[in-house]
Amino acid sequence: MIPVIEMDGVGKFYPGDVHALREVSLRVSPGELLAVVGPSGSGKSTMLQLMGTLDRPSTGAVRLCGHDVGRLADRELSAVRSRWIGFVFQHFFLTSHLSALENVATGLLYHGVPRQRRRHLAYEALNRVGLGHRLTHRPRELSGGERQRVAIARALVARPAIVLADEPTGALDSHSGAAVMQLLHELNAEGTTIAVITHDLAIARSLPRRVELLDGRIQHDTGPAHVEPADAQHVPVGAGTEEAP
Ligand code: ADP
Repeated sequence: MIPVIEMDGVGKFYPGDVHALREVSLRVSPGELLAVVGPSGSGKSTMLQLMGTLDRPSTGAVRLCGHDVGRLADRELSAVRSRWIGFVFQHFFLTSHLSALENVATGLLYHGVPRQRRRHLAYEALNRVGLGHRLTHRPRELSGGERQRVAIARALVARPAIVLADEPTGALDSHSGAAVMQLLHELNAEGTTIAVITHDLAIARSLPRRVELLDGRIQHDTGPAHVEPADAQHVPVGAGTEEAP
């Protein structure tokens, strides 16, 4: 099985002789749920940027679904990124004047999906995250936990190979945060590959695999948990067959 993400001896250097990552090697297989965890300054954001193909490594190779990020032109890289990666951010990054349904449908804008189909898939994804009753709400009319569910639905709607969630509970109260983590566990059980980037050890410990960063190196990797290959190819966003209103 081709790894979703493969990092091979990756280093990332910034001007001023800053070595944000050194000799990082990591394989993420389809169906995994893992945490990349470490204290502030350990290299998590840099790791996220590289896993998310938002940046290229200084040394070593990053492959996304077998595509060597360092060898792709910018245009190819954004195509690969939008095809294979769904992002979830701490502060949601929803568009304020769009409804929940429209926000999720934007996740399909660059996939050549016709508008009605986009709305239907967005409707299914919102149902899957428990927000079928909030389709027309704007972000400001939603709670923090609901906003993050919309963002998760947007990340999932194009059925990416991996969801990268950057401190997904960081802006939420503990109750909403626990519900979001529960949702990520459920989505993973249905086959979605998910990496959670966090400084929170309790969150990291609740996940099947932990990759611990310190000073730009992987200090410890608990290794992949057993993954069912059959599930890994299947990334449902919702079982509903009703039409969007
Ligand atoms: P974390 O997300 O774990 O806090 P980062 O990946 O943001 O860690 O940072 C790792 C190291 O790289 C830190 O020492 C940080 O100051 C440095 N760093 C991150 N981004 C840049 C940049 N664009 N230019 C220079 N140094 C950077």
